[in-house]
Amino acid sequence: MARIKLFLTLVGSLIGFAAVGILLNAALTPRPVHMVSAAHPLASAAGLEMLEQGGSAVDAAIAVQLVLTLVEPQSSGIGGGAFIVYWNEDTRRVETWDGRETAPASVTPRHFLKSDGSPMSFFEAVVGGHAVGVPGVVAMLGDAHKEHGRLPWADLFAPAIRLAEGGFEVTPRLNKLINWSPALPRMPVVSEYFFQPGEKDDDGNPVPLDVGMVLVNPEYARTLRTLAEDGPDSFYNGAIADKILESVKNAPVNPGGMTAEDLAAYKPVKREPVCAPYRTYTLCGAPPPTSGSTTVIQIMGLLESFYMQNAEPQSADAIHLISEASRLAYADRNLYLADPDFVDVPLDGMVDRSYLRLRSRLIHPDKTSSSNPLEAGRPAGSSASLSPSEPEPAHSTSHFVVRDDWGNVVSMTTSIEAPFGSHVMAGGFLLNNQLTDFSFRPVIDGKPVANRPEAGKRPRSSMSPMIVLDEDGEFYAAIGSPGGSRIIAFVAQSLIGILDWDMTVQEAINMPRHVHRNTTLELEENTFIATLADGLRARGHEVEVKEITSGLHGLRVVGDELEGGADPRREGVVLD
Ligand code: GLU
Repeated sequence: MARIKLFLTLVGSLIGFAAVGILLNAALTPRPVHMVSAAHPLASAAGLEMLEQGGSAVDAAIAVQLVLTLVEPQSSGIGGGAFIVYWNEDTRRVETWDGRETAPASVTPRHFLKSDGSPMSFFEAVVGGHAVGVPGVVAMLGDAHKEHGRLPWADLFAPAIRLAEGGFEVTPRLNKLINWSPALPRMPVVSEYFFQPGEKDDDGNPVPLDVGMVLVNPEYARTLRTLAEDGPDSFYNGAIADKILESVKNAPVNPGGMTAEDLAAYKPVKREPVCAPYRTYTLCGAPPPTSGSTTVIQIMGLLESFYMQNAEPQSADAIHLISEASRLAYADRNLYLADPDFVDVPLDGMVDRSYLRLRSRLIHPDKTSSSNPLEAGRPAGSSASLSPSEPEPAHSTSHFVVRDDWGNVVSMTTSIEAPFGSHVMAGGFLLNNQLTDFSFRPVIDGKPVANRPEAGKRPRSSMSPMIVLDEDGEFYAAIGSPGGSRIIAFVAQSLIGILDWDMTVQEAINMPRHVHRNTTLELEENTFIATLADGLRARGHEVEVKEITSGLHGLRVVGDELEGGADPRREGVVLD
């Protein structure tokens, strides 16, 4: 008995030593603190795979984008454009890259006008080659990798090649959007890919791929292998470029005029971030040609005088204030924001604290300002001789965030514009219809529109990738969303949740959505805020209750930990 006891004691001590050893080891080895949050589990997994191989946030972001192109083809891809906002932990600075599409040299201000001078309808313009801008994603990722990559460029392609060759399952959202698109069945190549081969329903229509069916894309795998081996330039010159040009030129509807020179001339732009204080924080984002981050900053700046931290979260009071601030900010956005390489954008004036404080006096806490839509203000540096751009509808795009073990962060919003972009495929990926983000009418009421189409110009975007710094100027949070021009409202509302209402990133993302783009106040249906509609109408708002699909992905630092969030309205996950 004594022997058994001694034996047990010895074993117990050994286990104890081992446990202490493991704990000590864990305490001495820095814990990896990386995280990815993206709109599809396979995309998040690809990012994580890179991070676990010692990759940087930029390496992971590239792997995420290459997989999203395949598994969430309706939203973003290498045939589109994107903006990165990047926290550089070494320099403690925010950097941004503009990978927005450019208009081919053949584009004129009349690009979306019909022969009688009237504008095309959005749906007339979307499908085919006419609205395809020169894609910027690959060149931008190539530049970012040159500066901040750790793994070899070719290694970043492994997860996407594996999935393109081995297959992936069609998700409910992809299936829903295949069903939704009226044009998809009519477009060759793309319809062969997204419909069941040889199947017809009772009315003779092709049958969309079902949820769970496995889709392979050997052509995309070939494109990826070329890009992996020959580098980002091979997208713009050579076999991939030829395929893009051929698909655009031979599109069965709206053939487009993109040329080899247009592709070869594409350049991503590294720009200074747009930053402004909010309470003790600093908000930073991508500057124009996206209007997104600037307008988010304006909304927050307009609300600063109202002490949102004291407002009841998601109350009618809070929704009213946010809506009024949004109306003022969207008014400025619609008038002034466009490609800064083509028009003078009064950017500093628009985010200036005293301008916003003065303008916030137009907000009455109990009732709407009478005129709807509200008119733009006059920030320093603005010109009064412009007409507001028209609203542009959209329901696509993807946002993801990555943090690496060194503390660098990527906040990237990426888009092919409409679901399935132009519905034109080349090399196994979809091409964007981003030129429809230009104002279709170049001149309104005799005044030019800042966001009119022009050769070489980048269409105004609403993408709002954001990074928030804390009071010491250190990285605190990163967030962004898809959703067309609603993106701005989604991101501002979530930032208020995190910064003012002490919500976790996930709680802020989950909040019922409300959007005011200086037209009507939209409330997300089937949520408790829909019950506030009558109260908000009593304050003078025109209210619509409707389906609103944000797709926010974000993360923040809490002490030594990372906390992430993924929008339950989409299919993404947080992985760490
Ligand atoms: N094309 C839009 C933009 O750049 C985004 C489209 C969307 O989010 O649906 O603002």
